[in-house]
Amino acid sequence: MDKSSKHSATRDGESQGFYIDTDCCLTCGQPIEIAPDLFDWREHACFLKRQPKTNAEIDKAIRAMWASEADCIHYAGNDARILKRLGQAGMSYVADDPRAASFPNHARDRVTFTLPIVLIGPRTAEEIAEEFRVHERQRGCTVALPMLDHRTVFLSWYEDNFHSVSFQSEGDQTFSATVNLGFGMIGLAWVVDDWLKSKGATEIHWQASGNTDPDETLGTPI
Ligand code: SF4
Repeated sequence: MDKSSKHSATRDGESQGFYIDTDCCLTCGQPIEIAPDLFDWREHACFLKRQPKTNAEIDKAIRAMWASEADCIHYAGNDARILKRLGQAGMSYVADDPRAASFPNHARDRVTFTLPIVLIGPRTAEEIAEEFRVHERQRGCTVALPMLDHRTVFLSWYEDNFHSVSFQSEGDQTFSATVNLGFGMIGLAWVVDDWLKSKGATEIHWQASGNTDPDETLGTPI
């Protein structure tokens, strides 16, 4: 790709960071919705107003990369943590540094979290699952009625392509939610992540099921 077609917001003297290849714009608008502090419209494509500075802004830039419908947000930097996140999310193709491809896929399908104390007493995994069901119905998703396992939520946002989220108590008012692996997993993980943060959840740690290495946890799904 011709570097002259890339629109970087980095300043002179800094190593390049995130940039947008606007040649392929489908006007998806996702980056502006996800991170309006970082992205805006210019003519017929979005552009990067500035590089992310904080960890929260980097999280949003990476989410915008994932959401971009034309994969047109790229990373030209060499921050090993960002390269690892992109590689583990199966997105090494948006990193200019080939080291991103050396990280094997690492799908973070499980999140542990703590919810604020409520006056009515300790929450159960079943109650949290029901709260999530109600929320997703209000968002317009098709949500199946609870069956034998009231801790698992089955939902679909397209026809009868159902996905599942299973809630579990981990003790001491800490809970986990596991999204089903496969197509749509990361999108569903973002839905759960947004919902948890809207509920004021803390101690949010995303991890691959079965992996207990604390160095492999993230505060976001990718
Ligand atoms: S992310 Fe890409 S497709 Fe989406 S608005 Fe920006 S330039 Fe266009």
